[in-house]
Amino acid sequence: MDNVKYMEKAISLAKKSKEPIQCGAVIVKDGQIIAEAFNTQHDDYDVTAHAEMHALRKAGKFLQQKNLGNATVYCTCEPCSMCSSALIYARVNTIYYGMPIANIDHDSKRIKITVEDIARRAPRHTKVIGKFLYDKCCELYKERLEKTAKLTQTKFWQPLSGKLLSRKKQTSVASLL
Ligand SMILES: [Zn+2]
Repeated sequence: MDNVKYMEKAISLAKKSKEPIQCGAVIVKDGQIIAEAFNTQHDDYDVTAHAEMHALRKAGKFLQQKNLGNATVYCTCEPCSMCSSALIYARVNTIYYGMPIANIDHDSKRIKITVEDIARRAPRHTKVIGKFLYDKCCELYKERLEKTAKLTQTKFWQPLSGKLLSRKKQTSVASLL
C-alpha cells in the first residue's frame, strides 16, 4: 500500500534527525515523492526548521510554485500549529500523521491546537488522517525516550502503550524541545 510506503519513508527520514524529537515528512504528488525532510531546529538555530517546513520549501522549489495542489503529506508526528497552518496555506490535499503531539507534549510550551482543529477552521477542505502507522511512529519516539530517560526529570508523561517506560521513569520530552 503506497500510503504505508510513504509513511515508512518518513520514519526512515526521521531517524536521520539529530533532534531530541525526531520527525520526518514526505510530500507526494501524482504518485511521486516531491520532497522529503527531517527536522533540524537546533543545528540550524531555527525554530521553523521542522520536517514539514523543510518539506514544504523543497516541494515548492521542485514544482516552482507555492501552492502544492492535490499533494499529500506524511508526517511521523502530528504537525504543530505552525506546520499545520503552513501545510494548509500550501493547499495540500491530505495530511497523514503517525503519533499525536499530545502523546509527548504535556506542558504548555506548545500552542494547544490540533491539526484537526486547524483544518476544521480552514477556508478549504483538507483531509487529516491521524494515528497512521501509529505503532511504528511511536516506536520512533520510544527509542528517543529510552535514550534520554536518565537525563531528564521525572515528570508526568502519558505513556504511549503503558509499556514504554515504567511509571518511575516517565519523563518530560517537552523539556528537550
Ligand atoms: Zn511543526
